[in-house]
Amino acid sequence: MNFKFFAARRLLVPGVLITLLFSPAAMAEWFKLERDVMGTRITVEVWAADSGKARQCSMAVLKEMHRIDAVMSPFREDSEIALLNREAAKHPVKVGSELFRLIQRANEVARLSAGAFDITFASIGYKYDFRRKIKPAAEEIAQRLAAVDYHLIKMNAANHTLQFAREGVRIDLGGIAKGYAVDNGIKILKKCGIKNGLVTAGGDSRILGDRHGRPWMMGIRHPRQKNGVAVLLPLSDTAISTSGDYERYFIEKGVRYHHIINPQTGRPVATTWSVSVIGPDATTTDALSTAFFVLGAKKALQLAERLKGIDAVIIDARGQTHYSSGLMPPAARNRAAAH
Ligand code: AMP
Ligand code: MG
Repeated sequence: MNFKFFAARRLLVPGVLITLLFSPAAMAEWFKLERDVMGTRITVEVWAADSGKARQCSMAVLKEMHRIDAVMSPFREDSEIALLNREAAKHPVKVGSELFRLIQRANEVARLSAGAFDITFASIGYKYDFRRKIKPAAEEIAQRLAAVDYHLIKMNAANHTLQFAREGVRIDLGGIAKGYAVDNGIKILKKCGIKNGLVTAGGDSRILGDRHGRPWMMGIRHPRQKNGVAVLLPLSDTAISTSGDYERYFIEKGVRYHHIINPQTGRPVATTWSVSVIGPDATTTDALSTAFFVLGAKKALQLAERLKGIDAVIIDARGQTHYSSGLMPPAARNRAAAH
């Protein structure tokens, strides 16, 4: 257990001491809980007056992460996803409404991104093992590529069944499930009565409220400098997801093999280093960060401009940083619009 207490007292200066002492906020503290679930670092931070409640609510968020993992992990034989991957090419498979809806959501992002985001990437994706430095041979990619196409997922909304239209189709929600888990975590905190907090699962975070009346300063990791921060963003009451080619990868003969796969080629995307997406909920920002990564800076920014409430920071494979217009200072925005 790793509950930490952040010094709320640091705020106190003599002039405001009395007011703070007698306000409920004076009794409140930041609590932080960190654990590894789904091979991912989970962080829950809450601002609460009642330490018992803070702990209880944070534990409920962790429990939710475990629950989602049990439904959606392709690596657990008893998960609904594993069942689909074993059976759905042979006959329709009934799944719970939660998984059904998330797959529908994933396919909406697939349509929106013209197939850049595609959960059937897994038909070839499962042949990569980044820890063991294993990748499929060119012939195998060519042969399996026909099974990469989200149109092959036939969904029946009346009875919540799914069927794959051909042999060899597999799906994997790795590009959207963490964001979904973060959103559910935030729902739990809200139900608990928490007004300010943060839930993070790997590269996906959602902020509830703010930090002492100020935004959280969220750092985007530098994709090529260990412990370096490329961009700092002040954020409150929003979600942010980052996809990077430095998260799971190996390098062979100077080529980086990493976990974000272009569904058109069956190979890791080589044009992008990192994408961060800011938006109202983490399910959306998670899926879009993966989609934008595949699309590349130019197309991704065009799509970001079309989507309401979505902003993006993209670092391309030359190390250049691109911002959507919502993140630019007004003068630069006007210049960009004139072009
Ligand atoms: P993220 O870190 O959110 O960008 O998600 C990366 C994960 O998404 C990978 O580890 C895969 O599980 C999955 N993924 C990789 N390529 C794609 C793709 N083209 N469409 C959808 N999901 C993908
Ligand atoms: Mg993502």
